[in-house]
Amino acid sequence: MRINSVYLENFRNYAEQRVDFDPVCNVICGENAQGKTNLLESIICLSTGKSHRTRSDRELIRFEQPGFRLEGAVESRERKFVSRIEYGFSKKKKVTVNQVPARTLSDLSQVLNTVFFCPEDLLMIREGAAARRRFMDASLCQLRPKYAAALAEYQRLHEHKTRILREGDERPDLIATLPDFNLRMAETGAVLIHYRCRFLRRLAQYAAQAHSECSGGKEKLTLRYKTVSTVTDPFAEHRLLVMQLLSHQQEHHYAELLSRQCLSGPHKDDMEVLLEGISAKSYASQGQTRTAALAMKLAAREIHREIIGEYPILLLDDVLSELDPRRQEYVLNRLGSGQVFITCCEEDRLHSLLQGKIHYVKNGVITGG
Ligand code: ATP
Ligand code: MG
Repeated sequence: MRINSVYLENFRNYAEQRVDFDPVCNVICGENAQGKTNLLESIICLSTGKSHRTRSDRELIRFEQPGFRLEGAVESRERKFVSRIEYGFSKKKKVTVNQVPARTLSDLSQVLNTVFFCPEDLLMIREGAAARRRFMDASLCQLRPKYAAALAEYQRLHEHKTRILREGDERPDLIATLPDFNLRMAETGAVLIHYRCRFLRRLAQYAAQAHSECSGGKEKLTLRYKTVSTVTDPFAEHRLLVMQLLSHQQEHHYAELLSRQCLSGPHKDDMEVLLEGISAKSYASQGQTRTAALAMKLAAREIHREIIGEYPILLLDDVLSELDPRRQEYVLNRLGSGQVFITCCEEDRLHSLLQGKIHYVKNGVITGG
């Protein structure tokens, strides 16, 4: 799978730009605030339909312009595709693949898959569960359209139920609708658990391998899925999962009414990250944290390849400078096949390490390559 070129029109700080990419390695080089991350962001948009750093599509439009256009020429599954996104010109965002309107944003991921790694991903190890859930969700949504649909439905139900709990004091009639919400959340929640535990089982295997290679075989990385406490086996059949989720909800019914929050369900899921059996969140050094986060991303890349049969595109934003020479060498030279994009400020450091194309970015204009 690879992206051969992109065309950006009034996207972020790009007025009008076409870029042809190298099939293997693309280095995007420039000073701060020139448009390196914006270029990666455009590739992420073409693969997921939305940006990784904002929920608002408006922000993606170049200042003082009515809308943006993005177009990517992609080769995957031995076929050629043109994915296109237009926003701001008509009421709705227009997404097409080979000129056929997309039914959902998942249609884009059917064509182009990406794994993105940036310094904020270190939070995946250091911070609370939300960052780790985002990582699971981002990977699974690209890989499993059914998961994406279930997650959207679950989030809708969760928001609605939260509103009911907040307004319940004045509106007892709303509280009467809770059992219905609980049942639907348990049904959809069980689907999320089904996919998450299987994803994490593979992720744990691949991540342990990548971490060991990256750290020179010195350390053992373990990942463990944690879900609702009444679930005895996340791999159990759907019906049993639903029953166990319902029983947890019942146990927390009064606590939910009192706190006016949704306390029960897989929206609180987490994964434990252990190094040598000890919590990475509490004890890992900076270098260990980086290696573990990178190993998890590379593991996600392997799972994509396993499911789709091709490596997804790997986007590395600002991470090389964070890695020591040994890990840099690993990232640059031992990733096997698959197209890679790397942003950096100091091109000199890369010359000895890389083969591929260097694109120079200056104030929203790309040259070279
Ligand atoms: P760094 O090395 O600091 O990460 P970068 O090259 O990755 O820099 P980008 O994040 O790509 O920088 O941003 C480049 C510039 O684009 C910033 O100065 C930012 O203010 C500008 N920018 C962001 N959104 C828009 C927009 N909608 N319209 C115009 N310019 C924008
Ligand atoms: Mg940047």
